[in-house]
Amino acid sequence: MGHTALVALGGHAILRKDEPPTIARQFLHTRRAMRHLLQLVQQGWGLVLTHGNGPQVGHILIRSELARGKAYPVPLSVAVAESEGEIGYVIQQSLYNELAAAGLVRPIVTVLTQVVVDKDDPAFQHPTKPIGPFYPDEDAVILRRKGWPLAYAEGHGWRRVVASPRPVRIIEGEIVGRLAEQEVIVIAAGGGGIPVVEERGRLRGVDAVIDKDLASAVLAVSIHAELLLLLTDVRKAALDYGGPGHTDLDMLTVAQAEQYAREGHFPAGSMGPKVEGAVQFLKAGGRRAIITTPEALGPALDGLDGTVLVP
Ligand code: ADP
Ligand code: MG
Repeated sequence: MGHTALVALGGHAILRKDEPPTIARQFLHTRRAMRHLLQLVQQGWGLVLTHGNGPQVGHILIRSELARGKAYPVPLSVAVAESEGEIGYVIQQSLYNELAAAGLVRPIVTVLTQVVVDKDDPAFQHPTKPIGPFYPDEDAVILRRKGWPLAYAEGHGWRRVVASPRPVRIIEGEIVGRLAEQEVIVIAAGGGGIPVVEERGRLRGVDAVIDKDLASAVLAVSIHAELLLLLTDVRKAALDYGGPGHTDLDMLTVAQAEQYAREGHFPAGSMGPKVEGAVQFLKAGGRRAIITTPEALGPALDGLDGTVLVP
């Protein structure tokens, strides 16, 4: 057991906000990110990868909405499953090619991952996560009648908001762990996983999205990973991020991380879930968590870059 690294890829590793969202771009960025992950394979780590899916799931919903009457619409849980397939394919092929270029061969598989959430999670009463297309005023009336909570974004229009409940348990966690032990590289829990609720032992998909960093932490614990790598677009977590007292953090204990989180340094929806996920992982027996960029991964593994969190 052990010697597995769980690597959570931030949205930036696959698609950048400032450029046209195309499949070609996703392959380009993913290939670059995979090149940085090669060193983990070369160092003998077993790998499980997770990833974000915000833009991709948004576009799947747009296609579903615009094709109404011609193709059947997909609920959000199905859109998340589709995004896991789409991004899983991009990662599988990109990583295969990068490994091949380095003379390495590893089986790589994507596992569609269902993540159990509590149907009484308070998040269901307070949907906060905007998702999918923007709608004009006249559509908003119809959508509200459908029961969709909407939020208004100035200059863009109305947008659906959905709940972001906490991940409780990963249905496919055990098989992901077994595959990783057999040196299979696994891509799982993409987009935080397909949210499902459990009712009398049965599963049912729900309209929600799960935070990918929190789901990654739950998966990391479930597979007894040693290392949790949260790769994003900043090299280090910071205190007073972007403010006058901005201070990059090199090393944090769980106690320090919790203290700074309480002081409000890590906002919800960006750095907050990364630090929280890292803390959960370390409290459950993980040895080390690192927040950094794909580019800084090498030095960060040697303790020379990134924010390293330890128990
Ligand atoms: P990802 O797709 O990798 O999850 P996020 O946008 O959710 O990316 O989180 C990374 C972002 O968090 C950074 O780009 C940065 O702007 C923001 N951020 C907020 N607070 C902090 C902080 N205290 N330290 C570093 N980055 C922070
Ligand atoms: Mg994020």
